[in-house]
Amino acid sequence: MGEIDLIFYVPPIVFSSVALAFLLLWHMKITPAWQWSAGFAQTAAGFFISTFLPEPYSAAFVSGLIFIGAAYCYGSGLLVHFNAPTLRIPRVLFAAAYSVVLAYIVFVEQSLVQQLFLTDVGFALLLGIAVWIVTRRVSRPIDIALVVTSWIVVLDCVIRAIFFTFFTSSSDDFGDFATSLYNLEVSISTITICMFFPFTALAASASAAIERHRAAAETDELTGLLNRRGFKQTLERDFNPGDLSGSLIVCDIDHFKRINDSFGHAVGDTVIAGLAEEIRGLVAGRGSAARYGGEEFIAFLPNAPLQEAAALAELLRVSFANRDWHQEELNRKVTMSCGVSAVRDGETTLDGAIDRADCALYAAKSAGRNQVMAEITRAAADLKIGDYLPALTQSINMTRSGAAA
Ligand code: GH3
Ligand code: MG
Ligand code: MG
Repeated sequence: MGEIDLIFYVPPIVFSSVALAFLLLWHMKITPAWQWSAGFAQTAAGFFISTFLPEPYSAAFVSGLIFIGAAYCYGSGLLVHFNAPTLRIPRVLFAAAYSVVLAYIVFVEQSLVQQLFLTDVGFALLLGIAVWIVTRRVSRPIDIALVVTSWIVVLDCVIRAIFFTFFTSSSDDFGDFATSLYNLEVSISTITICMFFPFTALAASASAAIERHRAAAETDELTGLLNRRGFKQTLERDFNPGDLSGSLIVCDIDHFKRINDSFGHAVGDTVIAGLAEEIRGLVAGRGSAARYGGEEFIAFLPNAPLQEAAALAELLRVSFANRDWHQEELNRKVTMSCGVSAVRDGETTLDGAIDRADCALYAAKSAGRNQVMAEITRAAADLKIGDYLPALTQSINMTRSGAAA
């Protein structure tokens, strides 16, 4: 066996291995798309059959079908990866029309050149549609790499189709395919430039899985808001310690235990989700909000002065207090209290501001609930520990809002 012959074994072996790797990733729920595995398995089978099956017409027809199946699966893998519409019906219709033309060319026209042209163009179009759709959705570098390598595969097919149909005088006999220059070129380009495609698909799938797990670990399941850990991570990601400025709101539902006790935990959950909805609506685009504990929420508004945050908290309080819960079979109003604080000059974390907002919240609860309290803004340097409570008391008088129950 010569070195050239050995090359023909490489694509089936490499693509079978990649198919197996993707099967494992799918089984482990790392990629949601089983189509990657199916696509690479079909590519392996297509290479094997077209080169090694002794009956040339069946080999051409079956491998032609398998390659278009692979293009369909790669397209599905990409569309699923990028959460794009799968366009199943038009793509299946395209594959069906291709199959009819393939049968005609192989068994009636009996033209190898036409069959290779059809398979390359069919593959490029079917994969190209999906790549075209997902190209507008890329943002992460690994996804850009996946889309670029997908375009390379599409381009490889187009160039090969044009070159071997119009610029060479290849044999038109199906029996000559295995030893043809075309077969050699397709094997070489596949195991060189096109090899980036399966490996970027692997890397993009793994990276997307890590991203999904990170997002799940940082998200509260009931409300879809960030959880305490996600809030901390988001702030660490978005702000340099020296640049931290803005205001903080903490909220806690009033007498929530009574709601749980009287109406059940499920209704309690609905109330928590309802407050989360209000907070999301008000804070969206202005800052980050999180469910900080059971029925306690926190929102950070970067660069917002204390007054602005207090006004927003007041809007939130009123909106929540006016919410109608009859659909949830809760025949009473539900209220909440808020504490508001501002990050002070020189503070590099939110810890101090969170403590002060908690104290203001406690003051709001002590003053009768259903109200917003803001800390007094005073230079941190003036404030000794012993000064803190009087300062807060003063702030209660200055910034108290809402109707105490
Ligand atoms: P206050 O006005 O002083 O805040 O009174 P409260 O009854 O609301 O007291 P607190 O804030 O301490 O109540 C917290 C309660 O929230 C205790 C716990 O049973 C309940 N809780 C915590 N997490 C959940 C949850 O996920 N779902 C439900 N339904 N209840 C929860
Ligand atoms: Mg409470
Ligand atoms: Mg609480």
